[in-house]
Amino acid sequence: MAKRDYYEILGVSKSASADEIKKAYRRLAMKHHPDRNKDDSKASEEKFKEAKEAYEILKDSEKRAAYDQFGHDAVRGGPGGPGGAGGFSGEGFGDIFGDVFGDIFGGGRRGGGGGPQVFRGADLGYELQLDLETAVTGDGVTIDVPTQVSCDTCNGSGARKGSEPVKCTTCGGVGQVRMQQGFFSIQQSCPACKGAGTVISDPCDDCHGRGRVRKTRTLSVKVPAGVDDGDRIRLSGEGEAGRNGGPSGDLYVEIRVKPHKIFEREGANLACEIPVSIATATLGGEVELPTLDGNVSLKVPSGTQSGKVFRLRGKGVTTVRDPRQGDLFATVAVETPVNLNSEQKELLEKFDQAVREGGEKHSPRADGWIDTVKRFFERISQ
Ligand SMILES: [Zn+2]
Ligand SMILES: [Zn+2]
Repeated sequence: MAKRDYYEILGVSKSASADEIKKAYRRLAMKHHPDRNKDDSKASEEKFKEAKEAYEILKDSEKRAAYDQFGHDAVRGGPGGPGGAGGFSGEGFGDIFGDVFGDIFGGGRRGGGGGPQVFRGADLGYELQLDLETAVTGDGVTIDVPTQVSCDTCNGSGARKGSEPVKCTTCGGVGQVRMQQGFFSIQQSCPACKGAGTVISDPCDDCHGRGRVRKTRTLSVKVPAGVDDGDRIRLSGEGEAGRNGGPSGDLYVEIRVKPHKIFEREGANLACEIPVSIATATLGGEVELPTLDGNVSLKVPSGTQSGKVFRLRGKGVTTVRDPRQGDLFATVAVETPVNLNSEQKELLEKFDQAVREGGEKHSPRADGWIDTVKRFFERISQ
């Protein structure tokens, strides 16, 4: 049986557009679908295979041109050539749904009806170290980010000046190839051109055909007031350059707040330890307490113990999510005097003697503590 003309099979003219060919094939594929032709499945299968073979050739501009010039001889051994053993396996139906109906259902990554793939550039991360003061007040800072940018010499094409990328022969410029895997055929990025649809025969000297070069970019970052450790600032489009005309990725600046000498931060609250002399803690008095907006004076009542926490409302910080000022929690650490001279030691011994004579009323902590220790030993000796 002589092979029928592919245009005749699809019922289109020799000058039909790619779209008309696809529509014609879609119509035939539906018409000859085995589910719709249970009574006459053998004939439908033949018609379907015929249409599929015609479509495989005519949808590809290079194969179509060859077929127009040389007829069936040009494309022998193409789809539907060898093989075909076995009964009706449904071979190729997955293909239809992937290919012809894929674009109806929004499947596939091919843009513009089978064009080459474009690749978005990678997102980048950058760790920005800030001291607490800068994190709290916010600032504009400049950062140097090592990245990949589009090559200026070749405008990102990868081809040497005066030359152009050429169409990939493996995929015919589509950027994708099909792999038959059992029932389905799977569309994959073309291994020869990595999906670009083009290959570089004469590569650009500066980027060696990659279209992108390594570069350290200097960027200014607006750090909002109140950022905290782990917060991320997204700089849209400041990541790596895309490939094959794809958009750039984003840059994520992650905030790292360096440990502060005085303050620890917990959200909007600050905490610090405040050293108080024995005399001030005993007699009461005032101590200078640093805050992020200057020193404040803190009243220490007489008899203040180590570990006592003072809360200073509104002396904390804000966060980027909440404009309310947090509090400052100052924990008293009564300071033990060191490096005393003999006179000071003598005074302290005298003082200690006097306190002992006064009994336990001078030592509220030791009082409770001794009772607890007594009870502890009583219990374990039972
Ligand atoms: Zn290719
Ligand atoms: Zn280049």
